[in-house]
Amino acid sequence: MTLMDLHGWRESALIDGAWVPASDGKGTAVYDPATGARIAVVPSLGAEDTKRAIAAAEKALVAWRACVAGERADILMRWYALMLEHAEALARIMTAEQGKPMAEARGEVVYAAGFVRWFAEEARRIDGEIIPAPRSTQRILVWREPVGVTAAITPWNFPAAMVTRKVAPALAAGCTMILKPAPETPLTALALAALAEEAGVPAGVLNVVTGDAAAIGGALMDSPVVRKLSFTGSTPVGRMLYAQAAPTLKRLSLELGGNAPFVVFDDADLEAAVDGAMLGKFRNAGQTCVCVNRFLVQDGIHDRFVERLHARMADLVVGPGTDPRSTIGPLINERAVVKVDDHVADAVRRGGRLVAGGKRERGLFYQPTLIADVPADAKIARDETFGPLAGIIRFREEAEAIRLANDTEFGLAAYLYTRDIGRAMRVAGALEYGMVGLNEAAISTEVAPFGGIKASGMGREGSRHGIAEYLELKYVMMGGL
Ligand code: ADP
Repeated sequence: MTLMDLHGWRESALIDGAWVPASDGKGTAVYDPATGARIAVVPSLGAEDTKRAIAAAEKALVAWRACVAGERADILMRWYALMLEHAEALARIMTAEQGKPMAEARGEVVYAAGFVRWFAEEARRIDGEIIPAPRSTQRILVWREPVGVTAAITPWNFPAAMVTRKVAPALAAGCTMILKPAPETPLTALALAALAEEAGVPAGVLNVVTGDAAAIGGALMDSPVVRKLSFTGSTPVGRMLYAQAAPTLKRLSLELGGNAPFVVFDDADLEAAVDGAMLGKFRNAGQTCVCVNRFLVQDGIHDRFVERLHARMADLVVGPGTDPRSTIGPLINERAVVKVDDHVADAVRRGGRLVAGGKRERGLFYQPTLIADVPADAKIARDETFGPLAGIIRFREEAEAIRLANDTEFGLAAYLYTRDIGRAMRVAGALEYGMVGLNEAAISTEVAPFGGIKASGMGREGSRHGIAEYLELKYVMMGGL
């Protein structure tokens, strides 16, 4: 019995309410990154199957957009409740395919369910406007209508939350969706879809297509029926999808790479900054798009910060996510390990001082690593590491910190620790980022608008702004009154 069978969930794609294999019978294996063991085989769909999913979403749109908001909200609320009811099973599946420690997986299920609840609530607040007209015989009405058939392409680092923060607002708005989960973590997405079905999401409203990314992506992007794509993933793939969206002029939400700076000023609360550093750097083994990529630490606090962070890092336990003692699971694949190794070697080659770690432990497990005195032109300053490497860059002046923090093509998240309110406001204002954590590293929540600028993409997820991404404005001018 597989993990999925155990809960009555299928290793099949979901098209038009039917759990189906690929039409040519092909499959793709899913592996546990902690052990390398094959844990499942999911259908490997291509362009033709994807076209069927698009047709199903188009057919289902008619009734779903006509459904009153309260009904859509009730269905989403049931989905939310089912996610919490099955939280342990979902967490187990997530840890098996993604590797994160069970405690983090459980936390992600609650976080992911939070988006479903939030957008269930928002569904009933999709109201309109009445604008005073220029003539007394006129009235102006503004309606907000669903965008239509939408698509989502999600990454492997948050197998549940990246799905619900796209599916929930789409469904709440009255859109239908075709979801393509990451090939590394399709099981969590399929389990969520099974729960959505149980909650009463009608056939064709949510379709899940697993398989060939380029073929599925191509079919979604070529189709004039698909009016919007929401993508979370790497900047190169995001750029490509942006180009592919041009012929059909699709709306896009792109949540791409980051290179988050974590700026610590001399006047910061040292323990709070170290707490923030531990969370902001080592959560999910450093594999989140808002993970700290480089620490910028002012001269006067630098040595104490490095010493305290080093001491705290000794508490980290590298091991399989299924072991309750583990706080750092495996990286997702060999390519990820090679990249972290490359960033470590580069920082050391340029004169960085290796304080802790620096090596692969075994398999896909990497030691939590601390490098001090990293020069500002090291790879970690430009490229997203996506691993448990903390590199510390020293600075002297506030202006220098702002310049270094902004000296990247990315603009997703930045963190700032200071107790000077003037400096806090000045620097938070000067940081060219979509999100700023001010004396706080836990910035992700369904109630706030998550997203970036520059090469980190466009659009926002969560908050009332998150549902606006799935709505169009229609204005009706009434005359002759
Ligand atoms: P990563 O390198 O971290 O896996 P990617 O951007 O490659 O990040 O992957 C994020 C998502 O984009 C995954 O679901 C992946 O399958 C998908 N993807 C990758 N290449 C393409 C493509 N050519 N067209 C559409 N989706 C793609």
